[in-house]
Amino acid sequence: MTSATSRRRPDDDADVIVVGAGPAGSTAATYLARAGLDVLLLEKSTFPREKVCGDGITPRGVKQLIDLGIDTREEAGWLHNRGLRVVGGGVRIELDWPSLADFPPYGVVRPRNDFDDLLARTAERAGARLVERTTVTSALVDDRTGRITGVQAKAGPERTPVTYRAPLVLACDGVSARLALSVGIEKRDDRPMGVAVRRYYTSPRTKDEYLESHLELWDRSDPAGPRLLPGYGWIFGMGDGTVNVGLGILSTSRAYGRTDYRQLLRSWLDGTPEEWGFREDNATGRIGGAALPMGFNRVPHYRNGLLLVGDAGGMVNPFNGEGIAYAMESAKLAADCVVHALARPTGLSREQALRRYPTAVQQALGGYFRLGNIFSKLIGNPTVMRVATRHGLPRTTLMRFVLKLLANLYDAKGGDAMDRVISATTRLTPSA
Ligand SMILES: Cc1cc2nc3c(=O)[nH]c(=O)nc-3n(C[C@H](O)[C@H](O)[C@H](O)COP(=O)(O)OP(=O)(O)OC[C@H]3O[C@@H](n4cnc5c(N)ncnc54)[C@H](O)[C@@H]3O)c2cc1C
Repeated sequence: MTSATSRRRPDDDADVIVVGAGPAGSTAATYLARAGLDVLLLEKSTFPREKVCGDGITPRGVKQLIDLGIDTREEAGWLHNRGLRVVGGGVRIELDWPSLADFPPYGVVRPRNDFDDLLARTAERAGARLVERTTVTSALVDDRTGRITGVQAKAGPERTPVTYRAPLVLACDGVSARLALSVGIEKRDDRPMGVAVRRYYTSPRTKDEYLESHLELWDRSDPAGPRLLPGYGWIFGMGDGTVNVGLGILSTSRAYGRTDYRQLLRSWLDGTPEEWGFREDNATGRIGGAALPMGFNRVPHYRNGLLLVGDAGGMVNPFNGEGIAYAMESAKLAADCVVHALARPTGLSREQALRRYPTAVQQALGGYFRLGNIFSKLIGNPTVMRVATRHGLPRTTLMRFVLKLLANLYDAKGGDAMDRVISATTRLTPSA
């Protein structure tokens, strides 16, 4: 018999189902399992597995790793970086990560192949039951109440249909957002999207204390002369002999959707200095690409027992394309709400605890993302971008401010004058 405060019904397979074991899913599963819940973590692939990404983690993401109890010291095998090098408008400027109360002074770089495996193992060690090779196809919904009661999936090499039941489900299935779509939660087209491609090369630039960001991409291989390409690029040294090089384009740019992104990457890299090694012979894999869902482009983040977390909820930062930190941050907030919800009687009280989740992500990131959505519209305009690059980059103090803003690295309470300006602006930005 189930009492009003039971976490689950007799035919449930778990207290909570988490779909997808990327940074969002594994982080949520870890916190939930540590709180004593029985967590089923369903993942379509098997670890270790590749994930197309830049592999760069700013101090905001490192904070999330530290919160999880992961040892991020160099002695533990992490490659630290001290800031961002910005190249554009004929200028090259190195900006150290700001010194803050809320965040560590270093970022890290780690291949997702390894990073996601580490997070999934952390979830397992905490007690979550990871089931790999299981592709969730849709949510299971109670026709009478409209509530989610579990998921339907295809498991193993035979793709055997299987059903898992639980009172709550976390959609951490990334940009495909299959689970959200199965209950009709569509993406908002008035919010920005990005698309990014990347490739690994063996390169002498593998050891670099800075993450390098290119605001202008030039094709210098064209005999007719240098040609400015759309998009922004990165060069992240992986420390292991290779470099992760890629570029991204925002949906606000004219080139979005009408460009061969792989060819664009080749054109940019063919024009970079020969000695960097970004040539076909040194490539260690193929070009991979994926979409970047930004600025809360899929809402509501909670409905009828389903919570959207990380990319599934459109939580990539519209200022810089960073998504790992936000996937982990939202996962932590979601886990906290679920733990409180399942400690309450079913009905209104439990529902109130769950509705706290969209409010919590909104409070944590809403104002900043709204500002980012406006920013993405501005920089989609090449004239604005050109003026900003030419006149902004040479001004170091201004650029320090821009780094804090772009990487969302400021102390929300107290901090210096720059921090207070950013804090106030995120609070004042009107809803889009
Ligand atoms: C080219 C590129 C470069 C990027 N560079 C950076 C960067 O340098 N730094 C940064 O912070 N962010 C970067 N991002 C963004 C970052 O990769 C994402 O924001 C981040 O991975 C989101 O984490 P997530 O856990 O929400 O989703 P994901 O990492 O996508 O994880 C989703 C998981 O769910 C699984 N899954 C999907 N569908 C199903 C299903 N139906 N059933 C079961 N399992 C399923 C997937 O296999 C995967 O393991 C980049 C993105 C791209 C495309």
